[in-house]
Amino acid sequence: MKKLSAVLLVLSVCFGCLLVGRPASAADATVTYVGNAGFLVTVGSQKVLIDAMFGGFPGGYRLPANVEQAIASAQPPFDGVDLILVTHDHADHFSASMVRRHMEANPGAILVAGPQVAGQLSDFGARVATLTATAGKAATTTQNEIRVLAIYLSHGVFPAREPEIVNYGYLITIGDVSFFHTGDIDPVTIGIETFRGYGLASQGIDFAFVPHFLLGGRSADPGLVAAIGATYVVAAHYEYTMLPLMRTAILKAYPTAVVFENDKELDRWTMP
Ligand SMILES: [Zn+2]
Repeated sequence: MKKLSAVLLVLSVCFGCLLVGRPASAADATVTYVGNAGFLVTVGSQKVLIDAMFGGFPGGYRLPANVEQAIASAQPPFDGVDLILVTHDHADHFSASMVRRHMEANPGAILVAGPQVAGQLSDFGARVATLTATAGKAATTTQNEIRVLAIYLSHGVFPAREPEIVNYGYLITIGDVSFFHTGDIDPVTIGIETFRGYGLASQGIDFAFVPHFLLGGRSADPGLVAAIGATYVVAAHYEYTMLPLMRTAILKAYPTAVVFENDKELDRWTMP
C-alpha cells in the first residue's frame, strides 16, 4: 500500500508539473470550470470570469468553500482577473455580494453586465460598464483590451406580474481568440433566426458555452448550436437543471465537446 501511494504521489506531482510548469504563450486559451454555468477563461495573460460568482438557490448546489473563498478574495487561480461578466440576475449565475468582495480584493477587475446586474454595483463607478442590448440590437464595449459584444437572448416567458430577468449572451474577443456564452436561453422563445440574425456562425468563434441539455438529450438543438458555429462546444449549466447531463449523447453529437464533471470544480481544458 505504501509503494502504491508513493507511486500515486509521484504521478500526481508530475501531473502537476505538466499543468503548472508549462509556460503560457499569447495564444493559449484555457477554460477552468468553476461551478454550474461559471467559468474562468484565460487567454495569454488575460483572465475573464463569467457567471462564476453565485450563491445558488436555497438547498441547492453551492460552490465548494475553498473555491468560494478563493474567488471572493481574488486568490489563485482567480487572481489578476481583468473582466467579470454576468449574463443575468439569477442566483445560480450571480451574487452581488461575492462580486463586490472580488472587486474590492482586485482593483483591476471591471464588471460588464446589463442594467439589472450592473445597477447593484454602480458604486464602483467607472469599474462597472453597463451594456443595454435589446432584441435585434447588440451592445458592445472594450475594457482592459477585451472586446465584449452583448446580445439580448430571451430567458423565456415570465409570469405577467413578474419582471423579466434580462439575459445576455456574450461574444468575447481577446486577441485572436473569441468565445461565446449563451447565459440561460429559451430556444422556443428565441428561435434559431435570432442567432442567425447576429451572424455568429460567420465570426469564427473558437468555443461556446452552451447549456448541456441543448447539446445532448431530448432537448438537444443542433440547429441552434450550428447557428453559433463555434469550433468547440463546452457544456454548461451542470446544476439546477431538470434534465440529466447526457455525456455520451453530447460526445456522440460533438466528438470534440468539452464536458466537465459537475463535482470537479477547477478542472481545466486547454484549447488545442
Ligand atoms: Zn436563469
